[in-house]
Amino acid sequence: MSNASLVIANWKMNGNRALTRNMSEVLRDNQADFKGVNVVICPPYTLLSEMAGHIYYDDVALGAQNVSEYESGAHTGEVSVAMLQELGVEYVLLGHSERRAEQHESDQLVAAKAATVTQAGLTAVICVGEDKAQREADNTWSVIQAQLEKSLAGLSAKQMARVVVAYEPIWAIGTGETASPAQAQEVHAKIRGWLVENYQQVGAKTPLLYGGSVKANNAESLFSEADINGGLIGGASLNGEDFCAICRAA
Ligand code: PGA
Repeated sequence: MSNASLVIANWKMNGNRALTRNMSEVLRDNQADFKGVNVVICPPYTLLSEMAGHIYYDDVALGAQNVSEYESGAHTGEVSVAMLQELGVEYVLLGHSERRAEQHESDQLVAAKAATVTQAGLTAVICVGEDKAQREADNTWSVIQAQLEKSLAGLSAKQMARVVVAYEPIWAIGTGETASPAQAQEVHAKIRGWLVENYQQVGAKTPLLYGGSVKANNAESLFSEADINGGLIGGASLNGEDFCAICRAA
């Protein structure tokens, strides 16, 4: 049985207008197969408006891959929460390992962005995950715990109710090397324990997503784990049929 009810597509720096059209049509034609599953599409900023124009049915929402920590003003190249809201964006990915590595985003910056996003009533999807060396040195949990502590620092219980946590082991992202369901569940159970300890009932309900080479053929086994409430999907979210198959497994 699946314990998953949230599937988020992270297109990263991929896609074009044709894909927004194709994806919305495929989702529309298959939506009866995954009724009750919340599906979120996070295209690049430039395609948000186009995507918003296509999504007009229940259970499919729009997400962004990043946002500024500032509200407005002289921040060249940045996009604010209010700008996203105007387009109907409901979810924002924060702290993806690619941004942590390439844009040097710190936990402190992730926390500032999470505060802005949740304050505005949007949902922040906070990504955490260890790299291969950290796993091999048996430091997985200490790395994840530190990321959670710092990336969620300062959020009220009300704001925490608008947080999703995505566990994405860096060694599994885009590599085809998925964490086994047992490996993922082990970390998810610890994340759940930490959330309950720190945020009580709110933490008991925080959706926990797994991400890292989730495909149509492994989604079902991952989603059957007790503390895996859905997936954050990169590569497989660029193909409508593959993505629908993952939504169906949820
Ligand atoms: P992947 O990416 O599914 O291509 O491994 C997942 C992610 O980075 O969110």
